[in-house]
Amino acid sequence: MTLANQSIDSIRAGLLAKKFSAEELTRSALAYAEAENPKTNAYLTFSSDRALLAARSVDAKIAQGDDPGPVAGVPIAVKDVIVTRGVRTTCASRLLAHYVPPYDATAVTRLEQAGGVILGKTNCDEFAMGSSTENSAFGPVRNPVAPDRVPGGSSGGSAAAVAQGTAVLALGSDTGGSIRQPASFCGVVGVTPTYGRVSRYGLTAFASSLDHIGPLSRTVHDSARLLQVIAGRDEMDSTSAFATVPDYAAALDGNIRGMKVGLPREFFDGLASPTGDLIMAAVEVLKKLGCEIREIRLPHMPYAVACYYIIAAAEASSNLARYDGVRYTVRSEAAETLSDMYRNTRDEGFGAECKRRIMLGTYVLSAGYYDAYYLKAQKVRALIARDYDRAFEEVDSIVGPVSPFPAFKIGEKLDDPISMYLSDIYTITGDLAGIPCMSVPCGATAEGLPVGLQILTRHFNETTMFRVAHAYQTASN
Ligand code: GLN
Repeated sequence: MTLANQSIDSIRAGLLAKKFSAEELTRSALAYAEAENPKTNAYLTFSSDRALLAARSVDAKIAQGDDPGPVAGVPIAVKDVIVTRGVRTTCASRLLAHYVPPYDATAVTRLEQAGGVILGKTNCDEFAMGSSTENSAFGPVRNPVAPDRVPGGSSGGSAAAVAQGTAVLALGSDTGGSIRQPASFCGVVGVTPTYGRVSRYGLTAFASSLDHIGPLSRTVHDSARLLQVIAGRDEMDSTSAFATVPDYAAALDGNIRGMKVGLPREFFDGLASPTGDLIMAAVEVLKKLGCEIREIRLPHMPYAVACYYIIAAAEASSNLARYDGVRYTVRSEAAETLSDMYRNTRDEGFGAECKRRIMLGTYVLSAGYYDAYYLKAQKVRALIARDYDRAFEEVDSIVGPVSPFPAFKIGEKLDDPISMYLSDIYTITGDLAGIPCMSVPCGATAEGLPVGLQILTRHFNETTMFRVAHAYQTASN
């Protein structure tokens, strides 16, 4: 059974009407996902036993007449940088090929408490570093829409699973665009919540001041529901916010008349077709829905890629220091001294992109260069955040592209890291500012490649972002 036409609501209705049990749905979803997986390589591990246990507990609740929870019985894929107790979590790295975590990420705990069924763990770029899922130690993911192309990255497996119909919902992580960009490339919805909205407890750290967990789904409605389940303060993450979590889905009435929508000139200057045409067509739909469109400025955006790759690499170089062969990782055996063991383990274990980031990060944090690079980048980050604060004095939301181009061919950018980094230009400012941002599908190119519309709003105002996205998705269908 394909899950491609299922939603949180349709599954709930089917369960309560006894059309199928959660266990039946889970068995068929697992069988289908396992059979389809060779086409995309989206899943690295299936957690069948755990999924069936969760499904049986949903069925038991229904049998007793209890509420089975807001995502009851829904098959969910989880990016393999999010830890799962008893289920291998690799971060798509050779170093963690056999790592079985002793605890669950808070987002995972909350999903299961809400009745969710975790089918398995999805492929991604190693430690979430990349924009194409080609940096996985376990082979690239193919885009289900165009198998010779990348699904985007780093949450490429999660986006591909939802697009392929082997999961209804997925969790991804976003540090510089890794939820929105693959969502855009695969034609699904992807949401990066406000920094701190969702606990990072159990999310393997890449760049801690930028890391987010967020939803992927086919509809805006389902992402709103999923975020509701995983959001909110968590004692286990001191950076998780105390802000109350509103009922996102209840606000989705399709009416956005009078809303002020900003188009940053910096997002549109030089934006080529076909992406540019599709984004402008989406803006026309927003106009028809009664939005007032205004041009705005984000003057520091030209510095964003440099700023991001300094800060992200600096934090990554520190976070990756823990993979030393002593604790969780695979250990290189061919060493006589302790320092050789460290060196060999890291040399054999990390892929090229992780090594590049460790070297870059160590360099920008070193005594002679800290002020010139790292400190400067922190100042630029503050200016980028201020650009958004100013823009949101004028408009309620901002829209633009997610990526300058649709999904590229597998291998096309692999030898050119700078061109890969530059492709993140539209997504990284949202992470640097910590504001909520998302991608909603806005059509496809003549070749059939999906393109996503990006929507950004003020800190903790996911509701406005979801309202715009939902109204657009309903109107454009
Ligand atoms: N492509 C960006 C990078 O490689 C973003 C990755 C992410 O958001 N995890 O850093």
